[in-house]
Amino acid sequence: MPLLSPLLDVQGFDLARDRLGAERAALPERAAILESRAAIERLDGEHALLVERRRALADSEHGLGDEVAAVAARAKGVEATLYSGTVRVSKELTALQEEIRLHRVRQSELETRELELLEEIEQAEREMAANRAGDARVRAELKSLADALSVAEQAIDAELAKLVDARQGLVGGLPPEILATYERLRLRDRLVGRAAVSIVDGVCAGCHMKLPVLEYNRMKSKPEDALLLCVHCGRILVR
Ligand SMILES: [Zn+2]
Repeated sequence: MPLLSPLLDVQGFDLARDRLGAERAALPERAAILESRAAIERLDGEHALLVERRRALADSEHGLGDEVAAVAARAKGVEATLYSGTVRVSKELTALQEEIRLHRVRQSELETRELELLEEIEQAEREMAANRAGDARVRAELKSLADALSVAEQAIDAELAKLVDARQGLVGGLPPEILATYERLRLRDRLVGRAAVSIVDGVCAGCHMKLPVLEYNRMKSKPEDALLLCVHCGRILVR
């Protein structure tokens, strides 16, 4: 077997590692987790607004409650005067009755508004409960997605570890300078990870170009572990 042929096997493992790495990065759970996190952030933001709205409504409702009590107390005060017998002039009595009537009208208006506020508070509370239920649901989904991602990652990592071990067993037999050139060429984008290729009948298996005859003959005369590069694509040629 030619001395450099294990380099092609090493590359086979490296290409498999590239594929697994890409698969690991593109696991669908990863995108779904980002979506869930965004949904939680949105729900939390909406919840904070609801809490603020409910607080403001409750403050208004308390304020109205105090106003209702004050108006009711004023009406009672005027009633007390009216029925005390101290006022006897008909015009004054009529004025007191009118004042009471106006207080009661005002009280009724305030109470109606207070009821509306209580309904708005209940509505805000229902929305808060629905929001938290949604939040709990998304968090549970996020948890199961994270678990699924972890399982998928572990499966890929186990395969990657096997490839690393298998590769490790092969590189020892290769000349260090060839391996160094291989690693350097692997980083070139245009070689798409294929830094070493076989040469068949003077044709590079990487770019499928025929080597010049003189160059090919010169290569054949070199020792088996010599570093030969395709004059067209620059890949390492393995005889
Ligand atoms: Zn080539």
